[in-house]
Amino acid sequence: MQQSVITDKFGRVLQDLRISVTDRCNFRCRYCMPREIFGKDFAFLPKEHLLTFEEIERIAQVFLNLGVKKIRLTGGEPLLRKDIASLINRLSQLTGLEDIGLTTNGVLLGKMAVKLKEAGLKRVNVSLDALDDETFMAINDSNVKSNKILESITLAKEAGLHVKVNMVVKKGMNDYEIVPMATYFKELGVTLRFIEFMDVGQSNGWDFKHVITKKEIFDKLSEIYELEPVNPDYIGEVAKRYRYKGTSSEVGFITSVSESFCSSCTRARIAADGHFYTCLFAGTGFNLKDIIRSGVSDDQLEQIIIQRWNQREDRYSDERTEETAKNRKKIEMSYIGG
Ligand code: SAM
Ligand code: SF4
Ligand code: SF4
Repeated sequence: MQQSVITDKFGRVLQDLRISVTDRCNFRCRYCMPREIFGKDFAFLPKEHLLTFEEIERIAQVFLNLGVKKIRLTGGEPLLRKDIASLINRLSQLTGLEDIGLTTNGVLLGKMAVKLKEAGLKRVNVSLDALDDETFMAINDSNVKSNKILESITLAKEAGLHVKVNMVVKKGMNDYEIVPMATYFKELGVTLRFIEFMDVGQSNGWDFKHVITKKEIFDKLSEIYELEPVNPDYIGEVAKRYRYKGTSSEVGFITSVSESFCSSCTRARIAADGHFYTCLFAGTGFNLKDIIRSGVSDDQLEQIIIQRWNQREDRYSDERTEETAKNRKKIEMSYIGG
């Protein structure tokens, strides 16, 4: 087993792993899986194309051997993957793992929270884009009200999970909810992170003019609250963090568009069908599933991953232009996992 620091062409260390466990979802968020594209006829991955739990476990251990410390499960909606708790249980026992989290839309979280915690899950990021039901239902396009997600957040906290909330902010969609959301979660003592609307995939009709930047959100919050910066906990922390002065409540910003953070990007991603990606905005990945199904050894798998990471030159957000945003071929967020 190799215990080492693997770096890419810009010296960025391989440190985090995101694993998408399904490309399916019980929401059809307008900015991620618009129903007119992800409708009844959409060709989701057939079961035999998904990595099995054994394969996920094996790939994860190889990444951990190469220096990864944190794993996050995502999707699609990861809680739709059958027996996800047993996968978490297996992953949480792997050598070298320091932290395991999951990103979810929260619909199934309430009833699964205790089981997930018992399986070894430490943290959940719950996505919620609005408190107002009309807005929230217009976004999720699945008739789910915000109360359902708020209940799940409470149950997850009660189960002992560390909870953060993610809100994608899009102009004209939910920007009027910035302050109400901040106030609600400040009072609940849950960190809210504002995510700038990104040009992931090909289907969400992204345009620069739809983006509300961190500065705009910050200015809006500053009309009411005094915010002070909080130092990052570790190199490669994606969110820019602030504290409401005089409290321990925090708020964060994920600024992929207005202040890109490619120079400290330490994340590898595995899609549900086992493709390995070194950037969220990639067009092509490397098929690890076929490699492992062809019978390679763990040492060979390690060498393949090291080679791919060593060759990595991704810095999409640093280089984003109108042209790349509109015309570059990129995989979908629901497939690669956010
Ligand atoms: N279904 C889960 C959920 O919604 O939390 C996990 C997968 S989802 C793709 C992961 C995160 O990506 C969510 O917080 C979601 O809001 C965010 N996301 C999806 N599309 C986005 C976009 N175009 N721009 C910014 N964030 C996006
Ligand atoms: Fe599903 Fe998450 Fe995409 Fe919404 S953001 S459609 S919940 S994968
Ligand atoms: Fe990392 Fe790619 Fe995002 Fe840059 S654009 S921060 S390289 S995932």
